[in-house]
Amino acid sequence: MKFELPELPYATDALEPAITKKTIEFHYGKHHQAYVNNLNNLVVGTEFENADLETIIKKADGGIFNNGAQVWNHTFYFTSFSPKGGGEPSGTLAKAIDKTFGNFDSFKEDFGKAAATLFGSGWAWLVKDAKGELKIVQTSNAANPMTQGLTPILTCDVWEHAYYLDYQNKRPDYIASFWKLIDWKVVGARF
Ligand code: MN
Repeated sequence: MKFELPELPYATDALEPAITKKTIEFHYGKHHQAYVNNLNNLVVGTEFENADLETIIKKADGGIFNNGAQVWNHTFYFTSFSPKGGGEPSGTLAKAIDKTFGNFDSFKEDFGKAAATLFGSGWAWLVKDAKGELKIVQTSNAANPMTQGLTPILTCDVWEHAYYLDYQNKRPDYIASFWKLIDWKVVGARF
């Protein structure tokens, strides 16, 4: 299987000012692309040559895992956004958020805290467990909650490359802007 960089469902400048064109050009155009290229080079001649990304995440380790998971994580992250995003979820996801976190604002606070306090590089996730219950988890580096049997619903990339060009060291400001971009229709359909 030849892995490819997926098309973005919006123009590179469409998320401004929350995420600038410059950040998309580096984060998607350079970093995401590099994970795709690295993965394509690394799988040659291995048992993962024809595997899909989910299989790689569940079974690989080392460089193949790191690059495969980062391809998946970034595609999941970038496809959660819309220039018309923001607001709140509706339907069954909204009900589940209210049940688990009390209300949407409490969920935002808890998720934001997980994203802000993650030490070093990694990801904050809203996931669904095997019982269908929502949880917030943090993962380091490329790690993905699917390896723990959890289903990702939403993620925030808190590697510095996700926000440093736009926000420098102010990770909380990036997280505040992140909410303005979420396409709850796409995210809700994952629940
Ligand atoms: Mn990233």
